[in-house]
Parts: sequence; C-alpha cells; structure tokens
Amino acid sequence: MGSDAAFLERRRRIDALGYDYAAQPRDAVASCNLCGWSVLVELTHRDRYGYPARASACGRCGLVFLDPRMTADAYGLFYQGVYRPLVSAFHGRTIDATTIQAEQRDYAVERAAFLRPFVEGRGFRTMLDIGGSTGVVAHHFAGEFGLEGTLIDPAPLEVEQARRLGLETLTGLVEGHDFGARRFDVVVICQTVDHLLDVRGTLERVRRLLTDGGLLFVDIVDFRAAYLRGWSVEGAVKIDHPYYLTDMTMTAYLRRAGFDVLRTAFAADHLHISYACAPGAASDVLPEPDRVEALFSEVRFVQNAPGPVV
Ligand SMILES: [Zn+2]
Repeated sequence: MGSDAAFLERRRRIDALGYDYAAQPRDAVASCNLCGWSVLVELTHRDRYGYPARASACGRCGLVFLDPRMTADAYGLFYQGVYRPLVSAFHGRTIDATTIQAEQRDYAVERAAFLRPFVEGRGFRTMLDIGGSTGVVAHHFAGEFGLEGTLIDPAPLEVEQARRLGLETLTGLVEGHDFGARRFDVVVICQTVDHLLDVRGTLERVRRLLTDGGLLFVDIVDFRAAYLRGWSVEGAVKIDHPYYLTDMTMTAYLRRAGFDVLRTAFAADHLHISYACAPGAASDVLPEPDRVEALFSEVRFVQNAPGPVV
C-alpha cells in the first residue's frame, strides 16, 4: 500500500508540471549512432516518469537510445525550464542549480583523485567542461590542477552560477558551438554523455578539440546497472537521456572516435563508469555479437521475470 501511495503521489507531482511530452517535436532515429546499422529492436514504450517515450536498441551493436527523440530545439526548451523541476518532482525534493552543488562537490573530489595520475606533471594549461552545469566540478579541477577552465552547458541558470566561479562560460549545446581553432589540454564530460544528441559526433569533435597528448575524462550511467538495481527497464529510461550506454558500447564509441582508454573505474555509487582516455588511432571495432545477444537476453529477462523479493 505504502509504495502504491508513493507511486501515485509521484505521478501527481509530475502531472502537476503540465509538461506535454507527447506534443513535443520529435525525430525518428533512422540509424544507429554508434555503428550506422538500421535494424532496430524496440525495447520499451514508457519512461520512468510515465511519458510515452520509446527506447530502441541497435540489433547489431546493442546501443540503446530514445526513438523517436526530441529535436535539439525541444531539448533546449526542456533544459531551460523543465528538466530540474521534473527531476525534483520524480524524487520528491527540490533539485536545482543551488541544491545540486553539494553533490557536485563530492563528485568533483572523487573524480579529481581518479584523474590526478594522468594530469599532474603534464604541463596542461586549458580545460573544457562539456555539460558542466554550475561549474563546481570544473572549478575544483581548475584549482586542483592549475588549469584555465571553460564550460559549456545548455541551462542558463546553471551557467550563471559557473560564471560566478570565474570560469569562462558558453551557453548552448556542444554540438552547435563553433570553437574555431581552439584546442584544450583536458576535456571533461561529466554525467553528460547520456544527455547528448549525437554521441559519436561529439566524441569525434572532442578528439579534434584535444591537444596532442591531451586527456579526455568521460563517465556514463551504466544502463545495465540502472535496470538491474531497479529490476525495471522502463525505470531506467527517462526523456532526459537520449542514450543508454554500457561499458560495451561506450568502449566501442571511444575506440571508434580515436581514443585509447587509459583507465576505467566503476563508481562508488554502483551506477556510473568513468574513463580516462588519451588520443590514439581510431579503430572500427564493434561489440562482439555474443555480448550484444547477452544484453538482449538480460533485458528480456528483467522485463519478463518476476523481480527479486525484497
Ligand atoms: Zn549499432
């Protein structure tokens, strides 16, 4: 009874936002962003908020993504006024540009320790934080490692906070920004890659934005961890994430974009996986078919088997 009441209360809070997801402009996904294949497998038809958002997977490489997916303009409006209230309604507490900063500070300290061996003593000067939110992480990294920090994010309220921390700020999506001839020694993509509209294009872009011998930090929400912990595939899908990455698909993305993975770490939260990467030669590797089939088998099992008794 208690959990039903909590579910209904959550649904009431989300309904009260009045966000009409079904009315937003969306584009069908014609082919897989990772491998280009066009044979897709529909996995789910609702997301964790109850919105009619369909997630599909690529039948060849196992990449999972929203399909159809909101346009860049619709996502721009979403981040301006809907995203934080929606996440707040889902969790039943206020999560905004102010409250997230304490959480981001802890995250920044933990990830700086992960990156330290790859940054210290390398003579790096500049850093770009893609999707850097309020700038807490970029500010911490800049101070720890003596870097000049630049941050790009689509949420104006969060960028304003970052500007106050003394970072150079750019408001927008990285996919649409012209960096000209600028290069950066360090690029960080923290808790952001799942929000991008074009992961492959962004990683290829980042590869060109990095100086020779530079460093990329990126982390993912592990889709498998997300559905296994809640024993629900729908519960792991949300309109704020166009992509649902796993270690298998993210490693393929990085290698295809021309990155060598220097170190991988499973986060203490048992949800995120972090990667420190150096520029390398691009390779056209894809996940092995038996690993892709294992992912589909596990998804079907979670969808159809009764959950563990708790
Ligand atoms: Zn694919």
